[in-house]
Amino acid sequence: MINNLKILYHQGKQYIPDVTKAKVPGIFRGRPIITNAVINETELVELCPTNAISTDPFAIDLGRCTFCGECMFAQPEKIKFTTDYKISTNERHRLIIKEGVDKPIELNPDEIRKEINACFSGSLKLRQVSAAGDNSCELELNACSNVNFDMGRFGIEFVASPRHADGLVITGPISENMAEPLQICYDATPDPKIIILAGTDAISGGIFDGSKALNRSFLDKYKIDLYVPGNPIHPLTFINGVLDLIRYKK
Ligand code: SF4
Repeated sequence: MINNLKILYHQGKQYIPDVTKAKVPGIFRGRPIITNAVINETELVELCPTNAISTDPFAIDLGRCTFCGECMFAQPEKIKFTTDYKISTNERHRLIIKEGVDKPIELNPDEIRKEINACFSGSLKLRQVSAAGDNSCELELNACSNVNFDMGRFGIEFVASPRHADGLVITGPISENMAEPLQICYDATPDPKIIILAGTDAISGGIFDGSKALNRSFLDKYKIDLYVPGNPIHPLTFINGVLDLIRYKK
């Protein structure tokens, strides 16, 4: 009994009372801020492992970025990654952060289908499909339901079958071998349903972009309701993004 109390004392409170205002450690890399400092941009373009950096204007695409931090280490006066973890959005182009722009990433309300709030604002069941994922985003999605983040308090849960789900959360770059299982899973999910892409690999293919082993044609067929960047994603990025999506009322 005494030992158990000691353990509880040392662990402290793990539950996060308000996931919309939680603070993350300074080492976390979230939304970058890019200054207008004049640098050798080509050097950074060549440095980036996933072609996430473009020029004219200088910009970082968070849908391609692995958040490795190499560009920031090379040019700290140009690029700084903040701890802003609210970087989910429902429009792909909103993930492109341009130099001189320091504003939060938000969802476009006009792009949120009205049935999403009507059907899922109080309860959302999700089926996770690891489409050649490396288990990193999958691990963080698991963490969303642990005692710290407790996503279940909002009625958001993962379920074992697509037939019991309201939508899919796709991780991984979508290999050829996973293209058909993904389609089967989507077809088995009742309407209305949502699609969430979680992680750099799912959003752009990440370091596997362009590989012949991928088949990402599924993404050309359906509207993506939420992009959750990260490599891997952070549970707070996922939960806040989903809450913004299901709670917005037209
Ligand atoms: S942090 Fe992102 S943009 Fe910078 S080098 Fe790494 S992958 Fe490229």
